[in-house]
Amino acid sequence: MDVVALPALSDNYVFALVDRAAHRAAVVDPGDAGPPLALLEREGLALEAILLTHHHGDHVGGVEPLRRRHPAARVVGAAADRGRLPALTDAVREGDRIALLGRQAAVLDVPGHTRGHVAYFVPGAAGGGDLFSGDTVFGGTIGNLFEGTPDEMFDSLQKLRALPPATRIWCAHEYTLTWVREAARFEPDHAGLAARLAALERRQAAGDPVTVPLTLEEERATNPFFRWDDPGLLARLGTPPGREAFRRLCELP
Ligand SMILES: [Zn+2]
Repeated sequence: MDVVALPALSDNYVFALVDRAAHRAAVVDPGDAGPPLALLEREGLALEAILLTHHHGDHVGGVEPLRRRHPAARVVGAAADRGRLPALTDAVREGDRIALLGRQAAVLDVPGHTRGHVAYFVPGAAGGGDLFSGDTVFGGTIGNLFEGTPDEMFDSLQKLRALPPATRIWCAHEYTLTWVREAARFEPDHAGLAARLAALERRQAAGDPVTVPLTLEEERATNPFFRWDDPGLLARLGTPPGREAFRRLCELP
């Protein structure tokens, strides 16, 4: 299974999971049907499933046009958001496993950005895996807490942080440079952050702005929201580790 990141709208990614041998594909968070439809057409792929992480228009806007062209595709999304996800056929929740291109994907409930936000984890052969996390985590930061609380987001990130470090994170927006720069400003003495920022700036200058997939390992090392027990960060925040540190991070301007 290959994952193709398709830029869409202003800074979204739509992800296509492609099984070329079996001529089939799945699509995650189609905010716009154009890029995935073009790929399916070009490669002669049947659309097996559309996975939705949450209800925002820039993640679901392309569902109906995709279904018109591929009426057999299942539409998978959070049971908690039944009623505000278009054309939902498979309502899922924490612990569910879904068949995906001959593999099994695990469903994680990760509320915070929205109430009924889910992530999909497809374990890989070599101990890592692919995580489709919607607007839960971005390079160097987390998604806005539009409907959830810092405590809910903390519980969600604990689940994500516990995945294998080699997990590839396919986050749904390209925000990495902005937020790693911000994090490096907040922690100017963090060598790993400085190095990450320098590498991102080199890539940007070379005309290669795409930073997905992220890796869980790198987010654990540099993203402040994954480092609620990092002594250097805790000294800066002035809180005990864990939930309180996470809450404080959420309050920062
Ligand atoms: Zn969103």
